[in-house]
Amino acid sequence: MASTATPASLTNKSRVYLELEEKYNAHNYHPLPVVLERGSGVFVWDVDGKRYFDCLSGYSAVNQGHCHPRIIEALTEQASRLTLTSRAFHSNLLGEYGQYITHYFGYEKVLPMNTGVEAVETAIKLCRRWGYQVKGIPENQAKIIVCADNFHGRTSTVISFSTDAESNRQFGPYTPGFIIIPYNDSAALAKALQDPHVAGFLVEPIQGEAGVVVPSPGYLRQARDGCTQARVLFIGDEIQTGLGRTGRMLACDHEDVRPDILILGKALSGGVLPVSAVLSDDEIMLTIRPGEHGSTYGGNPLACKVAMTALQVLKDEKLTENAAVLGELFRQELDNLQSPYISLVRGKGLLNAIVIDHPKPDAAWDLCLALKDNGLLAKPTHGDKIRLAPPLVITRDQIHECIDILKESLKVLAL
Ligand code: PLP
Repeated sequence: MASTATPASLTNKSRVYLELEEKYNAHNYHPLPVVLERGSGVFVWDVDGKRYFDCLSGYSAVNQGHCHPRIIEALTEQASRLTLTSRAFHSNLLGEYGQYITHYFGYEKVLPMNTGVEAVETAIKLCRRWGYQVKGIPENQAKIIVCADNFHGRTSTVISFSTDAESNRQFGPYTPGFIIIPYNDSAALAKALQDPHVAGFLVEPIQGEAGVVVPSPGYLRQARDGCTQARVLFIGDEIQTGLGRTGRMLACDHEDVRPDILILGKALSGGVLPVSAVLSDDEIMLTIRPGEHGSTYGGNPLACKVAMTALQVLKDEKLTENAAVLGELFRQELDNLQSPYISLVRGKGLLNAIVIDHPKPDAAWDLCLALKDNGLLAKPTHGDKIRLAPPLVITRDQIHECIDILKESLKVLAL
């Protein structure tokens, strides 16, 4: 674990905010020592007015860029009109949103939720229900196949099938009903699919939190085909990989894979509200009936309006195409750095990571501190990996500026 001591470079103003958080907030995160107060496009500013490239984008929630003017306009206009009805009543936007998002992604129904993990929970419930009612699995015996090193969120059920001790240690007892297989292992999947009690296969098309682990070409396609043959639902968690991030609208699109259950979150609101969604066809979605699942805020009018605008911005501004083109450039330029301390550059579109190879165990953290000092924010994941995922509105020149900052910052690792 990197040192939590506040660096000497911190201004007095920032220090006050850090101390306040330390004293009054739970210690469930280990943030970089920077205190942000404003954002616009690819940039964020700290309380001292220093500007940074945001290369995390709220873990890919801010694909459309910080405070996108159209999304903020939709947000504020709707906020002064109607924000929440609960699902006890209808609203004038829920049906319109349902039509919009189902046509956008090509599904028959949507179930709106708020955070990503709630959408994952929803997908798990839907999958089990389909398993009992449609596939005919004996009650309480449905299983869902998941992959090692997954990250699907933080609820007690979802951490039950995490393989990361930090996520689940001393949070048991765990929810049963999950089969964990290695990621990117078609043979292991084929074997697990033989169990007739399997209802679903839940997978990230690229493992984001694990450090942007891209599976071998053909893996998703093979998984899709295997699921179809075994009559098992393919559940795509596109919370981090979706919505243009990897250079296609969905990362599954790279292999023409259509999940039976599609999970979206994060950038569905452009980073302004927690908005998530589960999409599927009627055979699956209609197994849940009134009163059997829901959320007070799920599908609220504010979220509906914001999500429609956030999705429209992706299309109107061709952000997916930008991610594809500039992602190529970014990885090329990262390779060109030829740093002895970068052992691997990997990713798709603008979801990328570098793997740091250095004798100092905190090297990735130290590099992120140097990047911060030089005006770029990024955060290590699992020790030695640094995700580089700027908002999709980034320009070619800005990619070059980011590379210059990286080049300068890598000097901090010189032995
Ligand atoms: N699924 C994936 C693939 C994620 O990357 C995340 C968050 O990083 C989640 C689920 C959980 O989303 P949330 O933090 O909004 O609950």
